[in-house]
Amino acid sequence: MQNLWSAKIQYLKGVGPANAAKLAKMGIFTVGQLLEHYPRRYEDRSKLKLIAELTDGEYESFRATVTNISELKSHSRLKIVKITVRDSSGIAHLTWFNQSYIKNKYQLGMELILYGKIQRRMGIVEVNKPDVEAADNNSQGSGRIVPVYPATEDMPQWQLRSLIQQALQIYEGSGMHEHDETLPCEIVTQYNLLARQQALTNIHFPPTMETLSQARRRLVFEELYLLQCGLAYLKHKIKSACQGIKHAPDSSLTAKVQTHLPFTLTNDQRKTLQEIKADMEDLTPMQRMIQGDVGSGKTVIAAIALAKTVENGFQGALMAPTEILAEQHYHTLARLLAPHGIRLAVLTGKLTRKVRSEALQHIKDGLIDIVVGTHALIQADVEFKHLGLVVTDEQHRFGVRQRALLEAKGRRPDVLIMTATPIPRTMALTVYGDLDVSVIRELPPGRQPIATYARGKNRRDRVYAFAAEQIKAGRQVYVVCPLVDESEKIEAQSAVKLFDELTATFFHNIPCGLLHGKMKSQEKESVMSAFACNELKALIATTVIEVGVNVPNATVMIIEGAERFGLAQLHQLRGRVGRGKHKSFCILISDSTNEETMERLKIMTQVSDGFVLAEKDLLLRGPGQFFGTSQHGMPDLKIADIIRDTDILLEARRAAQQTVCTPAYLNTVWRSLENWFGAKFNMVFCR
Ligand code: ADP
Ligand code: MG
Repeated sequence: MQNLWSAKIQYLKGVGPANAAKLAKMGIFTVGQLLEHYPRRYEDRSKLKLIAELTDGEYESFRATVTNISELKSHSRLKIVKITVRDSSGIAHLTWFNQSYIKNKYQLGMELILYGKIQRRMGIVEVNKPDVEAADNNSQGSGRIVPVYPATEDMPQWQLRSLIQQALQIYEGSGMHEHDETLPCEIVTQYNLLARQQALTNIHFPPTMETLSQARRRLVFEELYLLQCGLAYLKHKIKSACQGIKHAPDSSLTAKVQTHLPFTLTNDQRKTLQEIKADMEDLTPMQRMIQGDVGSGKTVIAAIALAKTVENGFQGALMAPTEILAEQHYHTLARLLAPHGIRLAVLTGKLTRKVRSEALQHIKDGLIDIVVGTHALIQADVEFKHLGLVVTDEQHRFGVRQRALLEAKGRRPDVLIMTATPIPRTMALTVYGDLDVSVIRELPPGRQPIATYARGKNRRDRVYAFAAEQIKAGRQVYVVCPLVDESEKIEAQSAVKLFDELTATFFHNIPCGLLHGKMKSQEKESVMSAFACNELKALIATTVIEVGVNVPNATVMIIEGAERFGLAQLHQLRGRVGRGKHKSFCILISDSTNEETMERLKIMTQVSDGFVLAEKDLLLRGPGQFFGTSQHGMPDLKIADIIRDTDILLEARRAAQQTVCTPAYLNTVWRSLENWFGAKFNMVFCR
């Protein structure tokens, strides 16, 4: 079998169209995908007990003989199959509800190995829906460590186990594993890894816990290694192959912009700026990300970098996720840069066709130095005379794929990415491993911390009365309605409901705005700008405001149903206030009594550092939930867990860096890399 790995799953015995369809529902189409359907956990059934020794409430294994099979109907018309088994020490009852076929599956006198949750009812052992195997079937290995797979009703454990076992047997017998080592053998030796085939066998059917952990280490390493190789390769390729723009050391314009700032830069800002300037003065294109909490002063740094590119005779572009943010950035930049003769333009949907085409012409002719706009800037009809620096304000919505697209456009300007989501280091290595990272951790001096409180629903009255007071005093208020998992539509409905409630009660006679994901982007923009210019005093919104505007006059952030949000997200929302000179407040409303939730909300009231919160959030909720959105660029990892496997991640990263600089290694992994990235990111690597 030459291509067992990519062979259709029907290749296996016992898989016809019906089973293939069931497997397809689980995302399994090929034998390889089946072999990569790793166990979720393991049960150590290596110790068989006597029935008399079984403990109530525990999951345990025992071996016994069938002595009776019957089916009864309960009063609620449930059909119950009851099988009685016995061993030398006593009897046990096994029960199944509404699974009549079970009674034909076993016969009197059959010897079974059973596993399940033991219930002792007045001394009699009962097991509901046990895992059953015939004792003479030595194949799948009861009486040993048994894998437990993610399974479905249609495709139960025993069937998955037996299919995987079959696939492994063919795989082992095929001899092809000698050729399918995905890692360079030097790496395998250096990092003391199991061979791939051995690791696969042992991850499914480990003889001991020790071999299981070796198998897992190998497979985790492989997964993280391929990811890191891909990221390192992207970076390596950009850095080594292409000639970018070499900016000259600073001269008068950059210096003027910098000395005219109304404040002195913080240490972190200075350090970041130094790193950016060094990158820009290098011939290889800059690929740097600035990570820093909201208000940490990233935009100011970007402005200075833009001045530097202009000083060198180039143009700069700043891209924002929404039009309204683009306008805001435009005003910020204009304030800092226009006084020094730098010519700026903003491109948004609001421009009339005439104004727009004029602006485009000016950009093409080099009469405009800096253009601010949405992402359409790099995609559409905009032509630059000579683009030197692209800054993107991505907040947290972008991924490897988008960056690869930008790279594929073939332009070679320096690239600077700003993100306001503090990301734990391990995660940053995984998601942004291809970028250099500067971190601004220190906030500008004199920032007042945002007073944060957690309140039960019984105190909503007081919370909203307080908000109304703040509005009376001239301030503005955000209210975020509970996160709804099911759909944007239901979430929108809940926002409308809250809006109706508040405008009829606490915010009666106060101009309020409503904002949710179901609105057209024009409607959203107009509500946002009405709030930004203080026409609206309160904004009732879904999390769409997360990627929001800077309204320094807003001082209160009320979050309803706060238990539904992760720490990182709460922090992001809280960052909408505390941007002006007035004291700001964040109030988390929740009636949850869940201990973990209360802990989370308490952390919010005590911690203001976004990086600390991010670490805690990752620990509490795991990487999948971390960003609270699916567009985060975090690849879907099959076996690695970046919290638990930090050590392996760092090793894999080191190995990857070594690999991309060693052509022979790179040749070995090339194939796997293409497959892996193709599957995870729908992305093609070009050599
Ligand atoms: P970010 O882009 O990281 O959210 P900004 O660059 O918009 O942050 O800065 C937030 C606010 O802090 C702005 O009003 C800016 O003028 C001000 N600011 C930035 N750096 C400093 C500093 N070093 N000292 C005082 N204020 C600063
Ligand atoms: Mg450069």
